[in-house]
Amino acid sequence: MLQRLARWLRLLGADVTCDPELGGAEALHRARLEGRPFLTRDKRLRTAPDVLYLQAQLFRDQLREVLAHHPFDPQRFAFSRCSRCNTLLHEVPRDVVGRRVPPFVYATHDRFALCEHCHRIYWDATHLSRARAEFAALIPAQSVS
Ligand SMILES: [Zn+2]
Repeated sequence: MLQRLARWLRLLGADVTCDPELGGAEALHRARLEGRPFLTRDKRLRTAPDVLYLQAQLFRDQLREVLAHHPFDPQRFAFSRCSRCNTLLHEVPRDVVGRRVPPFVYATHDRFALCEHCHRIYWDATHLSRARAEFAALIPAQSVS
């Protein structure tokens, strides 16, 4: 239910686990064990004192709710984590990515990052610029230190 939110939080650099296989109570139990804030849209869990129940249905509004409760600096941490699997990315030399990215991308970018877990390759493409613009709109400048 919150997988899109989880992907966006990871793009912002947040360490987010999200396992759709787990039931709500089980996921909450795991979050407590790991010392993580727990985010949910599950009404049955909203009365727990350590749960952030998200009112919003749209992910942009959910992102605002999360940042209001757990502010952090996206300019500093954005694009440091794989949005798919949450692993920290490592910058890799251009020749390492070689034929694994489209030729146009290879020809026009110098910096690449690799997820060593799921082997996804990231580069500073247009969609990242758009994402940055989106973050800037979501987070008022004065809240970013
Ligand atoms: Zn990954």
